[in-house]
Amino acid sequence: MAEKRDYYEVLGVSKSASADEIKKAYRALAKKYHPDANPGDKTAEAKFKEASEAYAVLSDPDKKKAYDTYGHAAFDPNSAAGAASGFGGFDFGSMDFSDIFSDLFGSAFGGGFGGFSSFGGGRRTNRPIQGESLRTRMSITFDEAMKGVKKQVTIPYQEECKSCHGSGAKAGTSPVTCSRCGGRGQVTTQQRTPFGVMQTVNTCPECNGTGKVIKDKCPDCNGTGYNRVQKTFEVNIPAGIDNGQSVKLTGAGNPGENGGPRGDLLVTVTVAQHPILKRQGVNIFSTVSIDYPTAVLGGETKVKTADGDVMLTIKPGTQSDTKMRLKGKGVPLLRSPKTRGDQYVTIVVNVPTNLTKEQKEALENFRSAMNK
Ligand SMILES: [Zn+2]
Ligand SMILES: [Zn+2]
Repeated sequence: MAEKRDYYEVLGVSKSASADEIKKAYRALAKKYHPDANPGDKTAEAKFKEASEAYAVLSDPDKKKAYDTYGHAAFDPNSAAGAASGFGGFDFGSMDFSDIFSDLFGSAFGGGFGGFSSFGGGRRTNRPIQGESLRTRMSITFDEAMKGVKKQVTIPYQEECKSCHGSGAKAGTSPVTCSRCGGRGQVTTQQRTPFGVMQTVNTCPECNGTGKVIKDKCPDCNGTGYNRVQKTFEVNIPAGIDNGQSVKLTGAGNPGENGGPRGDLLVTVTVAQHPILKRQGVNIFSTVSIDYPTAVLGGETKVKTADGDVMLTIKPGTQSDTKMRLKGKGVPLLRSPKTRGDQYVTIVVNVPTNLTKEQKEALENFRSAMNK
């Protein structure tokens, strides 16, 4: 048998690497050399096995300690170190690597073990299931919807237990294959009836279909693998979002089952109404009133837009209810925020009331002049 490479060297990490660094390094190697990604490539398969073995040891605090102390001899049944470590004769070939994969890849490699039967575990019918998606609401202002905004949302979140890394098993132990269903997650029962033998397939009651049983529950999560915490997420609300639309935070939902990916978090946005600017799709509508002389003689008036006030030129002889378009002053398009809708301004001519004597006289003069 060839000399085994140092496990740290295999993963390309230093001896002081953290659990996260080890996991990261293995994830990258496993993705690169996974047999599903390299069909028929024996070198890749060998590299994959080597990396998996290294990870199996270095990711387990007890085995890592034994390896750090005794090196490869820790797992040699014929050595004193193997006897001392308690892992002598530890059989890597029979390890169930599907645990590691479901933990690392979620459903990305779900069901992908069929072509890879050399690694124990056998066929599993308990497929990865994506976790439930969660929903929450958030209110933003009209201006925030126009410009886009980053907000924080805090939700009850099922965080992976730090002690058992989501396995639910007490530190130093692992879930074992369910003896009742043999890891299939399903049990078949036969019943004699007057019509013959009826066969039914049910979810295994021992392991609830997971195919795994936890003997020693992790005390920190009570064997669930997760702890409920209040977790804050940053929500990137894009410019142009409309009332009732949602922003999706991928993977911020509940944990999946059988190594399935987490669900998502959907944040439904309520946009507050603006006192003057009314939105319809990507366009904005508003009304502005001008005085009678401006309508007749022309002039300028101040109009509110989402970008601030602008001066609008009123042509002489502008009738009440005239609509003017302010191009590009509407709402940004969600998919191309540089493109914007328009603003439509309805001009209303203000009929004055409570005139002074002087104003009345001026108008009377105007009327006689018009009738001449
Ligand atoms: Zn735990
Ligand atoms: Zn079972």
